[in-house]
Amino acid sequence: MITFYPGPSKVYPEVGQYLQEAFESGVISANHRSAAFMEMLAETISNLKLKLDVPADYEVYFVSSATECWEIIAQSLISVPSLHIYNGAFGEKWMEYTQKITSGASSFYFDHNALPELPFASKLSGSELICLTHNETSNGTALPASFLESLRSESDNLIAVDATSSMAGVELPWESADIWYASVQKCFGLPAGMGVLILSPRAVERAIELGERKHYNSLLFIRENFLKNQTPFTPNILGIYLLNRIMQQVKPIEEVAEQTALRSREWYQFLTKYRYPLVVTNEAARSETVIAVAGTREKTAQIKEAAKKAGIVLGNGYGTQKDTSFRIANFPAISSQEIAMLQQFLVSFAGK
Ligand SMILES: *Cc1c(COP(=O)(O)O)cnc(C)c1O
Repeated sequence: MITFYPGPSKVYPEVGQYLQEAFESGVISANHRSAAFMEMLAETISNLKLKLDVPADYEVYFVSSATECWEIIAQSLISVPSLHIYNGAFGEKWMEYTQKITSGASSFYFDHNALPELPFASKLSGSELICLTHNETSNGTALPASFLESLRSESDNLIAVDATSSMAGVELPWESADIWYASVQKCFGLPAGMGVLILSPRAVERAIELGERKHYNSLLFIRENFLKNQTPFTPNILGIYLLNRIMQQVKPIEEVAEQTALRSREWYQFLTKYRYPLVVTNEAARSETVIAVAGTREKTAQIKEAAKKAGIVLGNGYGTQKDTSFRIANFPAISSQEIAMLQQFLVSFAGK
């Protein structure tokens, strides 16, 4: 089976060998306060910052998932209501989680075929943190870097970005936001079970001002441990090992992003040519890493079933479009040969 599921998704083929190496190296049996672990943690962060071109003064922590990041941000970085700008299921979930913890989250919803405009500026003054979903995995939309850049230049608010299904697949405008996070089972091409949380100096400063220390995953505990190359609780040591090996292996993000952009252009051209209707008709709002194809319930079910018989797993739709769309991951670990196989299948299906 080959998979185009947008998370968990296809892992890099080298992961098999790295798993064996991890076992043989002994590091996965080592104590997480040992020098061997601490060195590996420091090396992993340094390789990640290098390959993803993260600014030197931003801090990187490993947590358990993107969902945990929703909770960490709500607990440790929000004292005045946050503003959530979203167009799909993941942005909405983030808002709902935050609402439960802080009880003041407000939302600005925009259509998935539009880009959010800045008329919400009046709402910005009353909130301290703006929450955005860089790549809305549920409907195949993404925010262009120019949007993040203009938001940054128009407001002083801290900005948090869910980049779960784009980090490590596209270039991110790091300086345009203060809090970035992702989980490793999407563009990182790794097995699930870890989240990456990245903070600007301003976000760190704000966490210190707020001084929140009530939870096992309070941001300040996480940070204090990571500053010593440790973690507040026993971490996913195998996950960190694999992330380090993958970060050593991958090309610098500019090159990876070039391939992602090229493949996504080809995907959209292909789907248009063979008359597969796209969920996102506005080209400017389209994601490069997750492509959503629309269809009736019957047609969508048929195509997923036929693909399965051909040995190909398509991503189900998500949220409101669960049964009326399917999704294709355009993640870096997927090979050109696999893409060609899926396209061949789609050509023959279109002809039926
Ligand atoms: C997958 C995903 C999440 C949730 O990730 P977990 O690792 O399951 O916590 C959150 N946001 C977006 C945009 C996602 O694609």
